[in-house]
Amino acid sequence: MKKGLIIVESPTKVRTIKKIVGKDFEVAASVGHIKDLPKSRLGVKIENGFEPEYVTIKGKREVINKLKAAAKKAAEIYLGPDPDREGEAIAWHIAEELKGLKKPIRRLLLYELTEKGIKEALARPSELDPLKFESQKARRILDRLVGYNLSPLLWEKVKRGLSAGRVQSVALRLICEREREREAFEPEEYWTIEVVFETQAGPLVAKLKRYQGRPVKPKTEKEAKALVAALKKASFSITKVERKEIRRKPPAPFITSTLQQEAWRRLRFSAKKTMLLAQRLYEGVELGEEGAVGLITYMRTDSVRVASEAVEEARAFVAETFGQEFLPPKPHVYKSRKTAQEAHEAIRPTSLQRTPEKLKAYLSKDELALYDLIFRRFVASQMVEARFERTEVHIAGGEFELLASGTVLVHPGFLVLYRQEEEAEKSLPPVKEGEGLRLLEIKPEQHFTQPPPRYTEASLIRTLEEKGIGRPSTYAQIVSTIKERGYVETEKGYLKPTELGLLVNDLLVAHFPHLIETGFTARLEEALDEIEEGKRQRVELLKDFYQTFEDILNKAREEMASLKAGVPSGIKCPACGEEMIIRVGKAGAFLACSRYPECKETRDYVRDEKGSIKVVEKNRQTGEVCEKCGRPMVVKRGRFGEFLACSGYPECRNTKPLSTGIPCPKEGCPGQLLKRRARTGKIYYRCSKAPECDFILWQEPLKEECPACGAPFLIRKKERRKEFKVCPKCGYREEI
Ligand SMILES: [Zn+2]
Ligand SMILES: [Zn+2]
Ligand SMILES: [Zn+2]
Ligand SMILES: [Zn+2]
Repeated sequence: MKKGLIIVESPTKVRTIKKIVGKDFEVAASVGHIKDLPKSRLGVKIENGFEPEYVTIKGKREVINKLKAAAKKAAEIYLGPDPDREGEAIAWHIAEELKGLKKPIRRLLLYELTEKGIKEALARPSELDPLKFESQKARRILDRLVGYNLSPLLWEKVKRGLSAGRVQSVALRLICEREREREAFEPEEYWTIEVVFETQAGPLVAKLKRYQGRPVKPKTEKEAKALVAALKKASFSITKVERKEIRRKPPAPFITSTLQQEAWRRLRFSAKKTMLLAQRLYEGVELGEEGAVGLITYMRTDSVRVASEAVEEARAFVAETFGQEFLPPKPHVYKSRKTAQEAHEAIRPTSLQRTPEKLKAYLSKDELALYDLIFRRFVASQMVEARFERTEVHIAGGEFELLASGTVLVHPGFLVLYRQEEEAEKSLPPVKEGEGLRLLEIKPEQHFTQPPPRYTEASLIRTLEEKGIGRPSTYAQIVSTIKERGYVETEKGYLKPTELGLLVNDLLVAHFPHLIETGFTARLEEALDEIEEGKRQRVELLKDFYQTFEDILNKAREEMASLKAGVPSGIKCPACGEEMIIRVGKAGAFLACSRYPECKETRDYVRDEKGSIKVVEKNRQTGEVCEKCGRPMVVKRGRFGEFLACSGYPECRNTKPLSTGIPCPKEGCPGQLLKRRARTGKIYYRCSKAPECDFILWQEPLKEECPACGAPFLIRKKERRKEFKVCPKCGYREEI
């Protein structure tokens, strides 16, 4: 009989652990959750203390049977799913299946999948944590109550297939409100004035700060010109030279949210991609002879705590690699947020022996880039501060006061390893107090105030974190959900609400203002934390929540206006002059004549920066030329959406499908995939270089990079009434 059976949720973890625990232990995987709420019904017994009705996930019966068979042959059972609430739930569901065997069941909290991490966990196994499971259950039920009730409401009022969610809708609201702020923004003109002086050591550039004892902020060209004229008449000298040392502390080692933000900023990885890569680094990577080993500590954490051995290792690494002058006399200690789970550690390499350089041969380009970032950030967190010298030269002339400033790096400290966007270094010519200056040039410059920027994935996650919404396990999912639902699109890296997103948000805010509000959502998150700490009861929380929710929901069901009839747009129908209305179709929102079906006029539209509707000209130019007659092709909208037609119609009847914008995957082919319709009506995708290129695809390609291998598109696949996004190259798949 084996000494023990270790059950984890992923086959990769199995491989990593097996190598370390040897023959005494059997290691098996549950391959994710084994139970969940049912798909076809609410699955929460509201009258009966909100008890969830967990059912075995389709296809998992077999897995459970295998685990049972293995458990029978083992003396003890160790449950090692991820050390967070989600992992705790998996552990509990497995334990429920195995408890009939009457064998001791222990919980392994594996913060790092290394020899040390696994052996320590096995030496000190813990018990299943009922409070953590309660907290996970409460979250799952809350999300279910909201999603399962709100989504059908949207199907009824807007269109089928939409979704709303407790946290996802709050994130959407933030993005939509920012968009409205931008639309309402009125840019204001202002001017700055720079003055260039001549000194003995070279030119000195100063900014005009004050006039007649008050700060100057010219609003118009006229004001700026008056100041320029007055400046020309003054004579200038240096009144004071100040030198200050500025110290910049290294940032704390990564937690989930900061890792996602920095990976976006530096590597342009989406939060989802970052988590996928980090998961692989954590679960173990095959390193040639050494075998598989977990390269980083657990990646879902909000704690910046670092184990003392790891701090010592970092200090030794710094001293050896960079020298004593880069080593602070005492280790830096960082403080976590108050909500942080202190059993966790920051995200760091499991060994600094494994430098990014040494791992090059074993990691993909993206894995290596992320590992390198984690490595640098961690080591840098135990290095000395960067020191700058800032010089400020105060200049006076007549009733004017000016300031020239420069910053020079004195000691780079942690910046040698972890560069940050520093203010550009600028040195000033050496000058003395009392020195007279000759005016060389005056440079007035016009500016306009800028609207608040749209969110990026990074700034959205930072905002969610600051407002106390979401937790390390949910940030990435929140962002990817609103993108996948078509509520938000990415434009030059910024998150912009779609027309559908704005419509849905308006409806939800009008009827559930309290539910999808940041303060309320943050308090719910806190309540979930309190359940985990044993300070609050799950049933009591759910009861409180549901009482108010049910009332609002019933009211909304009655009062929410249906958008199916359309929303007035204020735009006149170009065919008959009646008002056009906004409708939501398969391909998003569009304008349709309110006299439909008598008038069948439809138009696409966009919004300008003020949020006003701009009708897209029907015969929009595309730059494409008709290959039959040489006239330009224009975009038309037909029964099946937009297509290209020759502008020479009716003399030339050439039409072409619109390109999907997805490049042909054939090596070296410059073509793009075009949507086509076979005579049978079936849609397929074909290379624009056909017949020279024979690439053809019968599934819909999605213009979305594979988060695992970076392939340029994924394919939509239907299997057993479920939809998946599948990578044609590496087999990566996820449910839609
Ligand atoms: Zn009309
Ligand atoms: Zn033509
Ligand atoms: Zn091709
Ligand atoms: Zn792939």
